[in-house]
Amino acid sequence: GPRPLVAGNWKMNGSVAMLKEPRLLAAMLKDVKLKADVMVCPPAILVRRVKSVLKGSKIKVGGQDCHWAASGAHTGDISAEMLKEAGCTAVIVGHSERRTNHGETDEIVNKKARAVQKAGLKAIICIGETLEERKSGKTLEVVTRQLKGSLPEGSTASDTVIAYEPVWAIGTGLTPTTAEVAEVHALIRKELSGLMGQDGAGVRILYGGSVKPSNAEELMSQPNVNGALVGGASLKAADFLGIIKVYA
Ligand code: 13P
Repeated sequence: GPRPLVAGNWKMNGSVAMLKEPRLLAAMLKDVKLKADVMVCPPAILVRRVKSVLKGSKIKVGGQDCHWAASGAHTGDISAEMLKEAGCTAVIVGHSERRTNHGETDEIVNKKARAVQKAGLKAIICIGETLEERKSGKTLEVVTRQLKGSLPEGSTASDTVIAYEPVWAIGTGLTPTTAEVAEVHALIRKELSGLMGQDGAGVRILYGGSVKPSNAEELMSQPNVNGALVGGASLKAADFLGIIKVYA
């Protein structure tokens, strides 16, 4: 399968004082041979600082969101090009918090993902069902619709990462069963193969939602799980390391 990716999404957390965490993480990973890529996605205003702290390490830096245009009259927005110039190699798009708090539809997420790919970066496209949707048996339908709607035409295994994040598992301490994770990831793989052909097999499909050192091993060992998108547990180097170590 594809080389796994463990990405930390700091969300709206972080400060100059917190730069000690990625500094520590880089030091702790210095002599560790990993079978996965590692990335941190800080708030945009900290990207350059984090990048500088990580100089000389293999840890990559990503953005959390971007506008779909490369530049222009979009007050308060930032573009994929800007994130690239600041040192990002990837951008998360369509996180459920963006979809919910900012009304982002599949169509908007698709445009953003396309902009990320056009800038030469990897789009980490997030999809996932709500609790209500899961309870009413709509999970597979919702995930399929979001994937088809959010994945730009012409996406490739090298410019695209899918993150399956059940909304009800985010920040709650709840996770799907391993069977439920495997079921959704298998569906995503099947759909990717239909949409992208052979390249679909090489796309990394991350699981996200309450990933911790204590459950990472089990979640990451499921078929078609090619890494994790980690929120809360990525903020402290020791916790994040506990997850990354699954791939040591
Ligand atoms: P938590 O790991 O805090 O549940 O967040 C998951 C997430 O939303 C990552 O993007």
